[in-house]
Amino acid sequence: MIAKTHSTRSPAQKNGSDSTCRYKRTLDRIRDQVQCCKRPEGSVRLIAVSKQHPAKAVVELARLGQTDFGENYVQESLEKIQSMKALRASDPLPLPICWHFIGNIQSRKCRDIAENFDWVHTIDNPKIAKRLNSFRDQSASLQSLIQVNLQNEPGKAGIQADELTDLAELIDSLPNLEFRGLMIIPRPESSFDLQRKVFRELRELLESHQSHYPNMNQLSMGMTNDMEAAIHEGATMVRVGTSIFGPRTPKNQSGIQ
Ligand SMILES: *Cc1c(COP(=O)(O)O)cnc(C)c1O
Repeated sequence: MIAKTHSTRSPAQKNGSDSTCRYKRTLDRIRDQVQCCKRPEGSVRLIAVSKQHPAKAVVELARLGQTDFGENYVQESLEKIQSMKALRASDPLPLPICWHFIGNIQSRKCRDIAENFDWVHTIDNPKIAKRLNSFRDQSASLQSLIQVNLQNEPGKAGIQADELTDLAELIDSLPNLEFRGLMIIPRPESSFDLQRKVFRELRELLESHQSHYPNMNQLSMGMTNDMEAAIHEGATMVRVGTSIFGPRTPKNQSGIQ
């Protein structure tokens, strides 16, 4: 008999229907904002950010028709991707899953990312781009976004705007990567107008390079707290975790589990 059991899971994680509700509310938020900006229906793709949530939560959403999932940590995501594959054989999902890597890319993880993901949002240096290319199977190119840091935040991932031309040219020249657009994680801002400002800058940066790269048409921007502003400024992909899955437990005492 164990004297004290002690659940670390939030009520939202225990109760499946809770995340179903949250998911539907998130889809409504996107749809409302798309309508409000008079953008075409279906022009914003929802990436459900499932980091720190179990494969079970991914399966639940996939059964509701969600296809795109974002992950930040390679080891954790490989386990989920494998268990989803196994499940596909025994109890197929309605639609194939598309995996997006949205975390920092370590050099030694490039092989795993290139072999297991469909999209990568966070390329920010030439060495990483070349390594991803070298490990990618030729049969389907890795859909690639460059992460940009427009606010000069020290220590933060992402290239400066004036570095874009060189990195874009490199990615475009690599046979197994397809350059698709830009991604940003801005500083949190509480006002809608301030949130919009940096998203607008990212859109303008994309527009200023678009004539060179016909398939560069994706803006990955907007999370739980700023997705409306991002959609307003032209986001084609929003990366949303908390609004769908509820709060995450802080990742620091890793190693256990
Ligand atoms: C965790 C994460 C998200 C999701 O953030 P929420 O605020 O939970 O919606 C989106 N993008 C990136 C890069 C993340 O790391």
